[in-house]
Formats: sequence, structure tokens, C-alpha cells
Amino acid sequence: MILVNEAQKIILEKLLPLEPEKIPLLNAVGAVLHEDIYAQRDNPPADNSAMDGYALRFEDVSSADQDNPPSLKVIEDIPAGQKPSKSIHPGEASRIMTGALIPDGADTVVMVEDTEWQDHNQMGYRPDTQQKLCQKSKVSQVSNIEKKNGSVLILKPQKKGSHIRKQGEDFKKGDLLLSKGNPVTSSNIGIIATAGYAKLSVYRRPVVAILSTGDELVDVDAKPEDYQIINSNTYLLASQVLESGAKPVLLGIVRDRKDDIKEKLKSADKADIIITSGGVSVGDYDFVKDAIQDLGSEIVFWKIAMKPGKPLTFSMLGKRPLFGLPGNPVSSFVSFEQFVRPAILKMSGHADLFRKTIRAILTEDIKKKNNGRRHFLRSTLTYKKGSYFVSVLSGQGSSMLASLASANSLLIIPESETKLKSGQQVEVQVLKSF
Ligand code: AMP
Ligand code: MG
Repeated sequence: MILVNEAQKIILEKLLPLEPEKIPLLNAVGAVLHEDIYAQRDNPPADNSAMDGYALRFEDVSSADQDNPPSLKVIEDIPAGQKPSKSIHPGEASRIMTGALIPDGADTVVMVEDTEWQDHNQMGYRPDTQQKLCQKSKVSQVSNIEKKNGSVLILKPQKKGSHIRKQGEDFKKGDLLLSKGNPVTSSNIGIIATAGYAKLSVYRRPVVAILSTGDELVDVDAKPEDYQIINSNTYLLASQVLESGAKPVLLGIVRDRKDDIKEKLKSADKADIIITSGGVSVGDYDFVKDAIQDLGSEIVFWKIAMKPGKPLTFSMLGKRPLFGLPGNPVSSFVSFEQFVRPAILKMSGHADLFRKTIRAILTEDIKKKNNGRRHFLRSTLTYKKGSYFVSVLSGQGSSMLASLASANSLLIIPESETKLKSGQQVEVQVLKSF
């Protein structure tokens, strides 16, 4: 038996990130950047308005208040996406929408709520908006109307330069926005798109072939007999592969015959990683190890000092790692999280390979055999009044799926530990948000 940490080290030392590929921006979500992202232009590209309102010269409104509102002649409408055609001179303003370019001569935007529109020619409104206009007490708050031939009163004191987004205030042309090695996420894809990258160079994510072994297995849509078991591992493992950002390929079920297993493994020659489940123990029908050796691969290790998940065969088929996971669904799940997931993440170019662990307060006493194995118990992590607490779920047998379905974490009991006391701090691996 080798220790969990040793097994992880041996696996990861054998693996390298896959080659890069250039793919459309949205397909790259979850992948790791293989290039630095630089700004192709300033953001914003030019000064623009942060509000719907009026662009004007601060000098003209520096003494504005309710009792003494300055009146400015409105010379133009500037919607977003249109270039201003007129400069602002003393006594003038342009109506401006959020995101529209600030016209020359203006240094301040006054938001529409601080103003009152004064119409010089009622016929200047489009007839269809006339009625709407009359219903509103504050004419200036009627937005989608065409205002011509009017002026605006500035009703409140203003600050010079307000409501203008300055050119380059977010970032400047040539700035390094994100460096190689960062994963593409919803929170940084906005800056990547704004920087003008329609395609991205990212590390290719591995294709992972999944094979379930067992004479007792039937497909999920079959009507099983008592002696048959529905193949759940294919789905369990494939969803773990998806959650790790890689691409599962399902090889289905193979019977417990060495030659059949060999054939299936050979058929996975396009995969970057191969996972099998079942058939790696010491039973009379456990042929996965033999099949691997027959294909000319060496078994790098076979048993790991952990529970659940002791029997796990790791070997390399050329450059491709092959994980022979135990058949019990929970053993399979836990082994995947500790060994396969970090391998996928490393091959995908990630630097951060392991599930987060946090320290939490144990809510009960736990006894463990002095077996030198690291235990992973399905558990519930909660956060109350500033502290994390962890409770063990009932039904810890390695074939018991109910507790796995309820768990949000795995409580880790170190190899040498035999007793844990209620109230003590323990290490917990977080599986999902809670
Ligand atoms: P094995 O590792 O092949 O000895 O299988 C251990 C246990 O896991 C047995 O009870 C199997 O029936 C069960 N098992 C193996 N493969 C699967 C699978 N794909 N889905 C659900 N249970 C499985
Ligand atoms: Mg089996």
C-alpha cells in the first residue's frame, strides 16, 4: 500500500499539460489560457457619459440651484453609438445617453433627474408622444421623445467633471489584462471580449474514456433482475469528468473477460485518459490488471492506504494515464476526486489541482481503526455564527449512495489517527458550495 500523497505525487509527476488549441471565445470557458491577453485599445476607448442627461460646460452651471437654475440651449441629441456632430459653446448643452461620446467643449454631464426640459415649440415633439408628455408632470423625465428647439434648466448644484467615464480609466491599450495560466471564467470573459479576442489559445482539455466492468451490470434503461446492478458508475464518473472541465467518452459496460477488457481498452486510443471501474480487486473475476499488463503496460501501483478506495490500479498506456478504479460507487467517486481530478486539471494546464480543504469543528466523537489508512467520510459542512461545523452522515458503506447524495464534503481522518473528539478541529474537503 502506498500513501495517498505519494500516489498523487507519482501520478502528477508523469503528466504534462496537453498542447494548446485556438477555439472560439465561448468554447474556452473553463479552459486555461495559453496566451497573455493584452488590451487592443483603451477602455473606454474615448470619454463617454455614465448617465442619461446633458453634456455641458461646468462654467455655465457652477452656480446652479433650485431658485436660480441656469438655462442652456440644447443643440443636439447624442444617442449611444453615434458620433456628436456639434461642439458645446458657452450657454449650450447636448442631450446625451449613457455610453454616448462626450462632445467637444463639454466637461461635465448633468443627469436628467437634476434638470427640467423647456420646450420652445410644442410642435417639436412627435405627435405620438404628445399625449404621453401631457400625462407627466415632469416633462424632463419623459425619455424616449424627440426634443427639438428647447432649452434645459439645471436645478441642482453640480460637480465639475461628473458622470464622465474617462478614456482608459478601466485599462489602457497595451496593458496586460490576464496572463497565461489563468482559467477562463464568467468573471474574466468580459475583459477578454472587450480586449477584442474572438478566439483564444487555451490548453486542450483531455478526452476521458470511461469503461465499466462487471458481469452483473446492466444499462440504466434495462429492467434489472435481482442479481443485476444498474451501471451507475459510468454516469457518476462522467459527471465528475465534466465537473473537472474535461470531455467524457462512454465506452459502456464490458463483461469480466480479460480479452474483452483488452479490446475495449484498445478502442480508447483517441482518449487522453482512460478510467475503468470495477475488476481491480482480488476476486476471481477481477481482470483489469491482467488486461493492462497484457497490453504491455506496467502497473505503477495498485493499493492505496485509504478508505474507501483501497484497490486502485495506476498505469501508463504510452503517454496516457489509466486509472483502474474500484467498482463500489463511493470508492470510485472518492478515488476520482483524489487522483483523477488532479490529473485532469494538470493536463488541462491548471496550477491549482486539488479540492479546497477547510478546518471545521467536529460535532461528534469518531473512532477509527488503527489501519494506517486515510479515511474519507461523507459529511455535511455548515457555517454558523462565524464557524464551520462538520457532521458525519450515516451509512458510510462504500456501496451506499444515499449518503453520497446528501454529502457536501468529505471529512478527512489522517492515517495515524484513531480517535477524534467532538469539538476538535478537523480537515474537511469541500465538494460543493454550502
Ligand atoms: P468490483 O470492484 O468489480 O469487485 O465491484 C465492487 C462492487 O461494486 C460490486 O458490488 C459491484 O456490483 C459494484 N459495481 C461495480 N461496477 C459498478 C458500476 N459500474 N455501477 C454500479 N456498481 C458497480
Ligand atoms: Mg466486478
